[in-house]
Amino acid sequence: MRRLKYTFSSMMCPNYPLSIIIPIYNEERGLPALFLELERVCGKILKEYGPVEIVLVNDGSTDKSWELITKQCSFGTNYVGVNLSRNFGHQLALAAGLEIARGDAVASLDADLQDPPSVLLQMMEAHRQGYDVVYATRRERGQEKFIKRITAWLFYIFIEKLSGVPIPRNTGDFRLLSRRVLTELSRLRETHRFLRGLVPWLGFPQTQIYYDRADRSTGETHYPFRKMLLFAFDGIASMSTKPLRLAYVFSLLLFMVFVGYIFYVLYDHFIRGGELVPGWTSIMSAITIFGAIQLLMFGVFGEYIGRIYEQAKNRPLFIIQEIKRTEAGPPTSPPKN
Ligand code: UDP
Ligand code: MG
Repeated sequence: MRRLKYTFSSMMCPNYPLSIIIPIYNEERGLPALFLELERVCGKILKEYGPVEIVLVNDGSTDKSWELITKQCSFGTNYVGVNLSRNFGHQLALAAGLEIARGDAVASLDADLQDPPSVLLQMMEAHRQGYDVVYATRRERGQEKFIKRITAWLFYIFIEKLSGVPIPRNTGDFRLLSRRVLTELSRLRETHRFLRGLVPWLGFPQTQIYYDRADRSTGETHYPFRKMLLFAFDGIASMSTKPLRLAYVFSLLLFMVFVGYIFYVLYDHFIRGGELVPGWTSIMSAITIFGAIQLLMFGVFGEYIGRIYEQAKNRPLFIIQEIKRTEAGPPTSPPKN
């Protein structure tokens, strides 16, 4: 009965209890396995909740990923293929998917099967119980390198201290959001978005469920150390202005040391009658240290000014080149962003 109702309504204007968003960047080798698994899991969700919309966002892949996506869209049902005009990065590809998705709940996952689609069933169950945000948390981090684990651990402690927003540990971007959370999220138009911090910041009833994270099915991670570092700084700058205040406190402390040093020099010269020339080393070290610290602080200020500038330009977050759909939904024009 339920199935009949959904089939009928989906011919008019589809009503999806769930949309799945998958950002894809050069994943041609892993896609066939991903599509198979999605079909299997979506079949189960269909029986329980209704049809699932699958939004595949191609983030400017240079391999055959888009071809595979369009092929899947042409014979699968309820697929939406979104082709971005170039590579915008994982977070913005996700933002594009979130904007296009029409489900009552929206879940995002990696294309490499590291986030197993089968966990979606548990996530939907938690959502049915009234949770607006359901994080899938890794029990095991697969064969991830020790250095990645330790840096991730330090990063989350650091960002939590700075932002004052508790961020659930060991959760990537594998999460389910309800429609009302998504509506609020779409009001945040930040160029440098750090969804892992913004979603906890939004509030609403949130919960976690646990799963074992596998290794990448194929290919290499797109987050090498350099990108991770940039991502980490984006996270910190997006969630907190405390580095600016820290720079200020730091310079105040140094200023006090400097004033103390002047007093010492005056005392040495006038009271103890010391010579000035022996002070050469200390003067040089003071100049070097202050110079270096000032440059460092300019660097911190510069990062924030750069972000203000980017935000002031108010450019769209992403640009969609084309959209392919496989159901009789309303014709879509690229969303305003
Ligand atoms: N991804 C993307 N754009 C990028 C980099 C990555 O859309 O510029 C996608 C990628 O295809 C994958 C997801 O984002 O589906 C997460 O990337 P990855 O698996 O490389 O990250 P990791 O799991 O290693 O942190
Ligand atoms: Mg991955």
